[in-house]
Amino acid sequence: MSVVKNDSQSSQWYLPGILTGLVITAKHMLKNIFNKKDMITINYPEQKHEYSPRFKGNHVLTVKKDGSLRCTACMLCATNCPAECITIHASEHPDAAVEKFPISYEIDMLRCVFCGFCEEACPVDAIRLGPEWQTPGVNGANFNYDIKHLAYRANLKGGVQSVVDDTERHKSGI
Ligand code: SF4
Ligand code: SF4
Repeated sequence: MSVVKNDSQSSQWYLPGILTGLVITAKHMLKNIFNKKDMITINYPEQKHEYSPRFKGNHVLTVKKDGSLRCTACMLCATNCPAECITIHASEHPDAAVEKFPISYEIDMLRCVFCGFCEEACPVDAIRLGPEWQTPGVNGANFNYDIKHLAYRANLKGGVQSVVDDTERHKSGI
């Protein structure tokens, strides 16, 4: 690496640089004050940005028409997760037509990188990454999402229905 030393007198003074920076800041501040409609920032949290429906935000476990979980505990999402943040415990389902279901499904959101691989891997549209992006929490435990949160949190209003229909699923043998 070569370093070129500037020995000129002016380079030893920081004041011109500081004043230039202040002028630029003041220019942008005045522009934003008098031309609010062109501001590229928003007044969060009063104003919230609407992301595209394709935005990969918080996870949702979808439900069947009867409100029960669509997940069949096949483990494909957990196997494909690069952050290894999905933990599933499977159990035999009382209904003989359903092989397995998750008795617990947890995502450690502090490790998740929102890559969407879990969503891609799922054969029955049981997990989705939705447009919801706010993830408040006051301690680490708040970021360990369980079935109650993933499928039945208040803003999901009873659950998001999977696009894979029961009848179609049984026909295809999934
Ligand atoms: S989005 Fe990626 S990192 Fe997060 S749980 Fe899914 S597969 Fe794992
Ligand atoms: S891939 Fe889908 S069905 Fe399989 S365990 Fe994950 S969420 Fe459940």
